Amino acid sequence: MAKRDFQTAKAGERTNAAGKPVSNRVLLSISDNEYHAIRPHLEFLSMPPHLSLYEPNDPLEFVYFPNAGMVSLVIETEDGRTVEVGEVGKEGFAGIPAAVGMRRSQVREVVQIAGDGFRVSVDALQRVLRSSPQLQLILARYAVSQGMQIAQTAACNRLHNIEQRFARWLLITQDRVDSPTFAITHDFLATMLGTDRPTVSLAAGILQKKGAIKWTRSAVQILSRAKLGKCACECYAAIQEDRYGGGPLRQGEAFKPRACAYA
Ligand SMILES: [Zn+2]
Repeated sequence: MAKRDFQTAKAGERTNAAGKPVSNRVLLSISDNEYHAIRPHLEFLSMPPHLSLYEPNDPLEFVYFPNAGMVSLVIETEDGRTVEVGEVGKEGFAGIPAAVGMRRSQVREVVQIAGDGFRVSVDALQRVLRSSPQLQLILARYAVSQGMQIAQTAACNRLHNIEQRFARWLLITQDRVDSPTFAITHDFLATMLGTDRPTVSLAAGILQKKGAIKWTRSAVQILSRAKLGKCACECYAAIQEDRYGGGPLRQGEAFKPRACAYA
């Protein structure tokens, strides 16, 4: 596939059939022809916090392309404990197993930061993909990227301390939601980080003392990405949006890490 085949529209230049503007980068990265093929199947969707997109072992009916907000990939163990293993925002899509024709998954995918986006039925997506090689390639590359993100998160959860992980999580989330403030509770964050509420509160207190964040009962505000970056482990650089999510690599284009924003 020639490089010239990849066109990138700007956010808002494309709409679905009902006129809702598109900000999702996958949908903005495909050619006009392929976008027109999928456009009639894009159903606009409001995505409030805690909306479950997939539950373990339930049939997979839709694939989701967020415009804004953040979706968590969560694993729940038999004793009811949960931990987040990945995040999806406007840089990607939720429902990789569904996109490749699988009908069930063990991973729960739940909206954590409110937003909106589009959903496409699995059957419609499969039909569109038969004549959309560029979309196929982009979805496949994003799937690999997400696998790498999950691998890095597994290592981080095992090897790095809660303050580092909390800082890493805040930076990754801010990359995806484009806002310095987002609604999140101590309880919910403890669940996502696989720890307990007192530990999260302790870590939040440390980051707040350093002037990196302002924390309230129901929201966190990032005051300084520079200070937060100094608290985060190396996993942020490994997972950061530009490397894995900032748009699939073009043919013949090498990965270049973004200069450290907090150096
Ligand atoms: Zn880490």
